[in-house]
Amino acid sequence: MREQILIKNVNLLDVKEGVLRENLDILIEDQIIKEVGKLYFADKENVKTIDCSGKFALPGLFECHSHLSVLTNQPEKDREEILEECGIAGGSLSEVLEKQVLKKFVEKGITQVRDCGGPIETLRGLKDKISSREYMGPELFYSGPVLEKSPLRAEQMNQRWPGWSVAVDTLQDAENIIQQISKEDAALVKTFSKFDFDVLKHLLDKTREFNLPVTHDPGPTFFHSIPVDVAIDLGIRCIEHGKSPWYIVLKDGLKSEHDKLFDSSPENKEAFINRMFDLGVDSISATKLKSLGNRMLENQVYFCPTLHVFKRYSEHPEEFNPDELDKFRKRFEILLKIGGVITKEFIRQGIKILVGQDGYNPLFTFDEMQLLKELDLSEWEIIKGATLHPAQWLGVDHKFGSVSPGKSANILILNKNPLEDIVNLKTTHMVLKDGKIVFKG
Ligand SMILES: [Zn+2]
Repeated sequence: MREQILIKNVNLLDVKEGVLRENLDILIEDQIIKEVGKLYFADKENVKTIDCSGKFALPGLFECHSHLSVLTNQPEKDREEILEECGIAGGSLSEVLEKQVLKKFVEKGITQVRDCGGPIETLRGLKDKISSREYMGPELFYSGPVLEKSPLRAEQMNQRWPGWSVAVDTLQDAENIIQQISKEDAALVKTFSKFDFDVLKHLLDKTREFNLPVTHDPGPTFFHSIPVDVAIDLGIRCIEHGKSPWYIVLKDGLKSEHDKLFDSSPENKEAFINRMFDLGVDSISATKLKSLGNRMLENQVYFCPTLHVFKRYSEHPEEFNPDELDKFRKRFEILLKIGGVITKEFIRQGIKILVGQDGYNPLFTFDEMQLLKELDLSEWEIIKGATLHPAQWLGVDHKFGSVSPGKSANILILNKNPLEDIVNLKTTHMVLKDGKIVFKG
């Protein structure tokens, strides 16, 4: 006999229509949402009825820029710190760290994750453990390695997590890696830092063949080998990090100065960079920012600002560079401001924003939402940026991203209305993943 759950009398956030539908019922059969509406039928023996009067239901959330493979290979000291940081009270050092943190994601209502870089074997292993129910964790959509031209900028990550970054120097490399990660169940591609134009173009052709959306991080703050406007024209579908477009939107004189320095000495480049950090938001041309936004809209490119990571580094620059704390603290503060100005304009223009933290801590996803709220992104758009938009971006909106018949029963039920205050997304009452109650407050 099929197992059915009936959620009664809940207020449903219809993310597709952007309306709150009051006092509805949701019928779940096995792992799937079967019906949504006002459902009247006599109690059957095999239906478990849950009254959710006064509660609010929405699709399980996506975290859109994680690096979950960081959770493996952590020394004991760091494991202890991570448990505490993730709010895992009474966490056990002898139990596997990744198992405890993945469970926490689900308990917070984050039932899907878009992972933007890490060894693909590790991520595949996590996905297998989750689907075999050895671990309780979110549905994983991962890119596997970040792809870049050698010498690898992310080489130091490879030393600790081999396979984090893979060199793509030739057309053949591009073909091989896309075939390989596709076999390993990659759901997206992450391009990073340097690329030869022809190689990136070929790589993007290949990704279309394999139906893999590509997201791009141009790497360093200036002197990009593939600036974001070029990447957009080549067909990338998303830009990571609020500060990434900074170079493209520099005021005219500054941009031509930058371009002239491209083959100059590291000292000259550093002097220019210092000057840009001193100028901060004054270096940005509002006109150029607007026109970049238009280009993104025309090409349906999404934006994942990951503002929280810049805030975190500005508060803890020692994670990044222990030698020059003050310089880095200041720089991250400025990057947060720059990212804020750029994100705010993109929000105004109606570009689809994704909620991502650039880390592995389920609590930070909610901090990112708060930062987006401060930039005037509406509660609806924040919620869409963690539900409908990532599902559409990944091409999995037939299964995820809204509470509708036929979709996976990944549902977050809250005590308070998140449309009144986004912080209410933390008032978890119940979480269902694949039709099973995985958390009850
Ligand atoms: Zn990242």
